[in-house]
Amino acid sequence: MLWARISRLSSAPSLSQVCAPQSYLKLTSTKPREALVRLLTSDHPFGIEVGRRRSPQVPEHRRICRFCRKRKAIEKEEHVLLECEDERLEHLREARLLDALQPLLPGTRELYHRLPSMAFLNFVLGKERLLPVFAQYVYEVCQLVETVPYFLVHSDTELQSLDL
Ligand SMILES: [Zn+2]
Repeated sequence: MLWARISRLSSAPSLSQVCAPQSYLKLTSTKPREALVRLLTSDHPFGIEVGRRRSPQVPEHRRICRFCRKRKAIEKEEHVLLECEDERLEHLREARLLDALQPLLPGTRELYHRLPSMAFLNFVLGKERLLPVFAQYVYEVCQLVETVPYFLVHSDTELQSLDL
């Protein structure tokens, strides 16, 4: 799902791009590579997918972030990875993503603050030398997500009671 959204940002890929080996598959660390592949194929623990897979399915507008629990914060990939203001996620993002990317590509932190989240994700995924850091970060965020129970919002009334 994330990959579909990223792909829509740019023009349709050529056949050679589609057939080219994906650079993330070249990552040597197994767990980070698996975490990144799972992110790109929507096989991840974030609420947007967990709520979709539940029975009965949770409406998308009620798949609220388990960390910040804000009414408009859908637990999408970009929210958890780049936007959520929860202290645990912000700490991880600063230490394991932004501080780690900066020496590899000075100016990355500024880009993070300037670009919309999906554009920043698209940028990082397009730079092969940034992928090991990003994949490790995705792996660590997924581990953190697994330690916090899914936040089930049962009704729209319950949704309205959440802070904005
Ligand atoms: Zn959040």
